[in-house]
Amino acid sequence: MSAARPECLARLVLATANQQKLAELSRILQATGMEIELAGLAGFPGAPEVPETGATFAENALLKAHAIAQFTGLPAVADDSGLCAEALNGMPGVLSARWSGKHGDDAANLRLVLGQLEDVPDERRGAYFACAAALVTPDGGEHLSEGIVTGSLTRTPRGHNGFGYDPIFVPDSAELTTAEMDSQAKDRISHRGKALRGLVPAIAAVLG
Ligand code: IMP
Repeated sequence: MSAARPECLARLVLATANQQKLAELSRILQATGMEIELAGLAGFPGAPEVPETGATFAENALLKAHAIAQFTGLPAVADDSGLCAEALNGMPGVLSARWSGKHGDDAANLRLVLGQLEDVPDERRGAYFACAAALVTPDGGEHLSEGIVTGSLTRTPRGHNGFGYDPIFVPDSAELTTAEMDSQAKDRISHRGKALRGLVPAIAAVLG
């Protein structure tokens, strides 16, 4: 893994414009020790913004990875992820990034979920984060890996790390919210960590 670009390193594009997700994806793949060069979308002006029209995380991850592999001519990894709350029948789900109506407004999305759950008792505040990670090659070959982390939702936000709904999500294995954990602790148990680590054998085979 390298930030520089020696010609001998195989390149993999991370197909997300979300800087915080890009940081997590890079960190998790770097921790595997694979000898590859990771490129973000910033290096590909005009890269398409792919609408997340799929009904599932897997469909959306594949849509994004296909579009970016085709555009860049390089193997691409994309993820789609979200929060699924028991008391909201699994929502916001694939709508997590735009739950309040404005795509990417993390603070408004979090406030809306907290408001919707205001009268929900502790025993029904269960939730999980889900992530589908897709690897697509320029010839259209695809690989998919999924991961979840189960937990519950707090009544007030806690912590400043991470992004999105992290300040209100406490994993079952923890007492801290994922926004109070350091990044390595979150990566070890997170939906994104699990999904991406599941994709590593396919990445190694494609780039090897
Ligand atoms: P997308 O995968 O780009 O559609 O965005 C997923 C949305 O789900 C984010 O904008 C967050 O609101 C939420 N989300 C996904 N993963 C996480 C996470 O690890 N922590 C907090 N929120 C997350």
